[in-house]
Amino acid sequence: MRVLLVEDEERLAQTVRDGLAEQGHRVEVMATGPDGLWAARNRAYDVIVLDIMLPGLSGYRILQALRAAEIWTPVLMLTAKDGEYDEADAFDLGADDYLTKPFSFVVLLARLRALLRRGAPARPAVLTVGELALDPSVRKATCRAGPLPLTPREFGLLEFLMRNAGRALSKTEILDSVWDPHYEGDVNIVEVYVGYLRRKTGLPAGEPGSIETMRGVGYLMLSAASPDGSAVPRGTQTSVTDAIGSPQAP
Ligand code: CA
Repeated sequence: MRVLLVEDEERLAQTVRDGLAEQGHRVEVMATGPDGLWAARNRAYDVIVLDIMLPGLSGYRILQALRAAEIWTPVLMLTAKDGEYDEADAFDLGADDYLTKPFSFVVLLARLRALLRRGAPARPAVLTVGELALDPSVRKATCRAGPLPLTPREFGLLEFLMRNAGRALSKTEILDSVWDPHYEGDVNIVEVYVGYLRRKTGLPAGEPGSIETMRGVGYLMLSAASPDGSAVPRGTQTSVTDAIGSPQAP
Protein backbone atom coordinates (compact mmCIF):
# COMPACT_ATOMS: atom_id res chain seq x y z
CA MET A 1 0.00 0.00 0.00
CA ARG A 2 1.01 3.60 -0.49
CA VAL A 3 1.12 5.46 2.79
CA LEU A 4 1.47 9.15 3.50
CA LEU A 5 2.85 9.77 6.97
CA VAL A 6 2.57 13.34 8.24
CA GLU A 7 4.66 13.47 11.38
CA ASP A 8 7.22 15.97 12.64
CA GLU A 9 8.87 13.74 15.23
CA GLU A 10 11.79 12.48 13.22
CA ARG A 11 12.50 9.34 15.17
CA LEU A 12 8.90 8.20 15.24
CA ALA A 13 8.51 8.94 11.52
CA GLN A 14 11.64 6.98 10.71
CA THR A 15 10.60 3.98 12.80
CA VAL A 16 7.19 3.82 11.17
CA ARG A 17 8.61 4.34 7.70
CA ASP A 18 11.26 1.66 8.08
CA GLY A 19 8.75 -0.77 9.57
CA LEU A 20 6.24 -0.30 6.78
CA ALA A 21 8.94 -0.42 4.11
CA GLU A 22 10.11 -3.72 5.54
CA GLN A 23 6.59 -5.04 4.97
CA GLY A 24 6.81 -3.97 1.35
CA HIS A 25 4.79 -0.77 1.59
CA ARG A 26 5.66 2.56 0.02
CA VAL A 27 5.84 5.36 2.55
CA GLU A 28 6.25 9.08 2.02
CA VAL A 29 6.96 11.24 5.04
CA MET A 30 6.04 14.91 5.33
CA ALA A 31 7.22 16.78 8.40
CA THR A 32 5.04 19.91 8.31
CA GLY A 33 1.32 20.56 8.05
CA PRO A 34 1.42 22.48 4.75
CA ASP A 35 3.65 19.88 3.10
CA GLY A 36 1.37 17.11 4.34
CA LEU A 37 -1.74 18.80 3.00
CA TRP A 38 -0.08 19.47 -0.33
CA ALA A 39 0.98 15.84 -0.73
CA ALA A 40 -2.42 14.50 0.35
CA ARG A 41 -4.14 16.70 -2.20
CA ASN A 42 -1.83 16.12 -5.10
CA ARG A 43 -0.68 12.55 -4.83
CA ALA A 44 -2.53 9.28 -4.56
CA TYR A 45 -2.25 7.24 -1.35
CA ASP A 46 -4.15 4.28 0.01
CA VAL A 47 -4.04 5.59 3.53
CA ILE A 48 -2.84 8.68 5.42
CA VAL A 49 -1.35 8.60 8.92
CA LEU A 50 -1.78 12.05 10.36
CA ASP A 51 -0.25 13.51 13.50
CA ILE A 52 -2.26 16.26 15.20
CA MET A 53 0.41 18.60 16.49
CA LEU A 54 2.33 19.68 13.40
CA PRO A 55 4.28 22.79 12.49
CA GLY A 56 2.39 25.17 10.22
CA LEU A 57 -1.00 23.47 10.16
CA SER A 58 -2.58 21.01 12.59
CA GLY A 59 -3.69 17.54 11.63
CA TYR A 60 -7.26 18.60 12.35
CA ARG A 61 -7.04 21.40 9.80
CA ILE A 62 -5.49 19.10 7.23
CA LEU A 63 -8.24 16.52 7.70
CA GLN A 64 -10.91 19.20 7.46
CA ALA A 65 -9.40 20.60 4.25
CA LEU A 66 -9.17 17.13 2.69
CA ARG A 67 -12.76 16.18 3.41
CA ALA A 68 -13.96 19.62 2.26
CA ALA A 69 -12.14 18.98 -1.00
CA GLU A 70 -13.90 15.60 -1.18
CA ILE A 71 -10.71 13.64 -0.83
CA TRP A 72 -11.75 10.43 0.90
CA THR A 73 -8.45 8.68 1.45
CA PRO A 74 -8.77 6.83 4.79
CA VAL A 75 -7.09 8.76 7.60
CA LEU A 76 -5.70 7.37 10.82
CA MET A 77 -4.95 10.12 13.33
CA LEU A 78 -2.22 9.97 15.90
CA THR A 79 -3.40 11.53 19.14
CA ALA A 80 -1.26 12.52 22.09
CA LYS A 81 -1.86 10.91 25.45
CA ASP A 82 -2.03 14.20 27.34
CA GLY A 83 -5.74 14.44 26.64
CA GLU A 84 -5.43 17.91 25.19
CA TYR A 85 -6.83 16.53 22.00
CA ASP A 86 -9.71 14.20 21.89
CA GLU A 87 -10.30 11.33 19.53
CA ALA A 88 -13.95 12.38 19.39
CA ASP A 89 -12.82 15.54 17.59
CA ALA A 90 -10.91 13.46 15.11
CA PHE A 91 -13.97 11.37 14.30
CA ASP A 92 -16.16 14.46 14.02
CA LEU A 93 -13.82 15.80 11.40
CA GLY A 94 -13.90 12.62 9.37
CA ALA A 95 -10.98 10.53 10.60
CA ASP A 96 -11.49 6.82 10.03
CA ASP A 97 -9.50 5.67 13.03
CA TYR A 98 -7.10 6.96 15.65
CA LEU A 99 -4.21 5.68 17.67
CA THR A 100 -2.91 7.14 20.92
CA LYS A 101 0.83 7.74 21.25
CA PRO A 102 2.88 5.84 22.17
CA PHE A 103 1.70 2.88 20.13
CA SER A 104 3.24 -0.35 19.00
CA PHE A 105 4.13 -0.81 15.37
CA VAL A 106 2.24 -4.10 15.22
CA VAL A 107 -0.96 -2.37 16.32
CA LEU A 108 -0.44 0.41 13.78
CA LEU A 109 0.04 -2.11 10.99
CA ALA A 110 -3.09 -4.03 11.99
CA ARG A 111 -5.15 -0.82 12.07
CA LEU A 112 -3.88 0.25 8.65
CA ARG A 113 -4.74 -3.13 7.18
CA ALA A 114 -8.22 -2.94 8.70
CA LEU A 115 -8.71 0.52 7.19
CA LEU A 116 -7.74 -0.73 3.77
CA ARG A 117 -10.06 -3.71 4.02
CA ARG A 118 -12.92 -1.48 5.06
CA GLY A 119 -12.15 1.04 2.35
CA ALA A 120 -13.48 4.56 2.38
CA PRO A 121 -17.27 4.82 2.18
CA ALA A 122 -18.54 6.18 -1.12
CA ARG A 123 -15.03 7.01 -2.14
CA PRO A 124 -15.40 8.91 -5.39
CA ALA A 125 -12.97 7.42 -7.82
CA VAL A 126 -13.78 9.05 -11.13
CA LEU A 127 -14.70 12.71 -11.43
CA THR A 128 -16.85 13.83 -14.32
CA VAL A 129 -17.85 17.31 -15.42
CA GLY A 130 -19.69 17.43 -18.74
CA GLU A 131 -17.50 15.68 -21.28
CA LEU A 132 -14.50 15.63 -18.97
CA ALA A 133 -13.61 12.59 -16.89
CA LEU A 134 -10.67 12.22 -14.55
CA ASP A 135 -9.55 9.24 -12.51
CA PRO A 136 -7.10 10.34 -9.79
CA SER A 137 -6.20 6.78 -8.83
CA VAL A 138 -4.70 6.01 -12.22
CA ARG A 139 -3.83 9.63 -13.14
CA LYS A 140 -5.89 9.53 -16.35
CA ALA A 141 -8.10 12.15 -17.89
CA THR A 142 -10.36 12.04 -20.92
CA CYS A 143 -12.31 14.60 -22.92
CA ARG A 144 -15.23 13.47 -25.09
CA ALA A 145 -14.09 9.90 -24.28
CA GLY A 146 -10.71 10.54 -25.93
CA PRO A 147 -7.46 10.51 -23.97
CA LEU A 148 -6.25 13.86 -22.67
CA PRO A 149 -2.45 13.86 -22.40
CA LEU A 150 -1.53 16.17 -19.53
CA THR A 151 1.63 17.07 -17.65
CA PRO A 152 1.49 16.39 -13.89
CA ARG A 153 0.88 20.08 -13.19
CA GLU A 154 -1.91 20.31 -15.76
CA PHE A 155 -3.44 17.17 -14.31
CA GLY A 156 -3.34 18.63 -10.79
CA LEU A 157 -4.95 21.85 -11.99
CA LEU A 158 -7.67 20.03 -13.92
CA GLU A 159 -8.44 17.83 -10.92
CA PHE A 160 -8.68 20.83 -8.60
CA LEU A 161 -10.97 22.72 -10.99
CA MET A 162 -13.18 19.65 -11.47
CA ARG A 163 -13.45 19.02 -7.74
CA ASN A 164 -14.55 22.63 -7.37
CA ALA A 165 -16.66 22.90 -10.53
CA GLY A 166 -19.30 25.62 -10.26
CA ARG A 167 -17.27 27.56 -7.72
CA ALA A 168 -15.19 30.66 -8.38
CA LEU A 169 -11.58 30.15 -7.33
CA SER A 170 -9.01 32.86 -6.79
CA LYS A 171 -5.59 32.52 -8.38
CA THR A 172 -4.05 32.37 -4.92
CA GLU A 173 -6.39 29.57 -3.89
CA ILE A 174 -5.47 27.62 -7.00
CA LEU A 175 -1.77 28.30 -6.51
CA ASP A 176 -1.86 27.14 -2.88
CA SER A 177 -3.64 23.90 -3.76
CA VAL A 178 -2.02 22.87 -7.00
CA TRP A 179 1.50 24.25 -6.73
CA ASP A 180 4.06 23.48 -4.08
CA PRO A 181 3.28 25.40 -0.87
CA HIS A 182 6.72 26.97 -1.08
CA TYR A 183 6.18 28.24 -4.61
CA GLU A 184 7.03 31.91 -4.62
CA GLY A 185 6.85 32.71 -8.30
CA ASP A 186 4.36 34.82 -10.20
CA VAL A 187 0.69 34.13 -9.45
CA ASN A 188 0.03 34.56 -13.19
CA ILE A 189 1.49 31.10 -13.79
CA VAL A 190 -2.09 29.98 -13.07
CA GLU A 191 -3.28 31.91 -16.14
CA VAL A 192 -0.66 30.22 -18.28
CA TYR A 193 -1.78 26.75 -17.18
CA VAL A 194 -5.46 27.55 -17.56
CA GLY A 195 -4.55 28.47 -21.14
CA TYR A 196 -2.89 25.08 -21.65
CA LEU A 197 -5.96 23.26 -20.34
CA ARG A 198 -8.33 25.27 -22.52
CA ARG A 199 -6.27 24.42 -25.58
CA LYS A 200 -5.96 20.74 -24.74
CA THR A 201 -9.61 20.15 -23.89
CA GLY A 202 -10.86 22.36 -26.72
CA LEU A 203 -14.18 22.83 -24.95
CA PRO A 204 -16.07 25.88 -26.22
CA ALA A 205 -16.98 28.62 -23.72
CA GLY A 206 -20.28 28.01 -21.98
CA GLU A 207 -20.00 24.24 -22.14
CA PRO A 208 -19.67 22.22 -18.91
CA GLY A 209 -16.01 21.73 -18.15
CA SER A 210 -14.96 24.96 -19.85
CA ILE A 211 -12.97 27.37 -17.69
CA GLU A 212 -14.34 30.88 -17.36
CA THR A 213 -12.27 33.88 -16.37
CA MET A 214 -13.93 35.77 -13.53
CA ARG A 215 -12.59 39.29 -13.77
CA GLY A 216 -10.93 40.35 -10.55
CA VAL A 217 -11.69 37.00 -8.94
CA GLY A 218 -10.00 34.16 -10.75
CA TYR A 219 -11.44 31.17 -12.54
CA LEU A 220 -14.51 29.01 -12.56
CA MET A 221 -15.10 25.70 -14.26
CA LEU A 222 -18.68 25.50 -15.46
CA SER A 223 -20.44 22.52 -13.96
CA ALA A 224 -23.42 22.73 -16.31
CA ALA A 225 -24.30 24.65 -19.44
CA SER A 226 -26.37 27.74 -18.86
CA PRO A 227 -27.75 30.10 -21.49
CA ASP A 228 -26.39 33.23 -19.84
CA GLY A 229 -23.06 31.65 -19.03
CA SER A 230 -23.57 32.09 -15.31
CA ALA A 231 -22.35 29.57 -12.83
CA VAL A 232 -24.56 26.70 -11.93
CA PRO A 233 -24.49 25.79 -8.24
CA ARG A 234 -22.01 23.16 -7.31
CA GLY A 235 -23.12 19.56 -7.48
CA THR A 236 -26.04 19.90 -9.85
CA GLN A 237 -24.28 18.43 -12.84
CA THR A 238 -21.05 17.25 -11.34
CA SER A 239 -21.28 13.56 -10.87
CA VAL A 240 -19.07 11.09 -9.19
CA THR A 241 -19.09 7.49 -10.25
CA ASP A 242 -17.29 4.39 -9.16
CA ALA A 243 -14.14 3.60 -11.05
CA ILE A 244 -14.11 0.67 -13.35
CA GLY A 245 -11.16 -1.49 -12.55
CA SER A 246 -10.03 0.70 -9.68
CA PRO A 247 -6.89 -0.63 -8.06
CA GLN A 248 -7.29 -3.29 -5.43
CA ALA A 249 -5.81 -2.88 -2.01
CA PRO A 250 -2.83 -5.17 -1.65
CA1 CA B 1 3.83 16.20 16.38
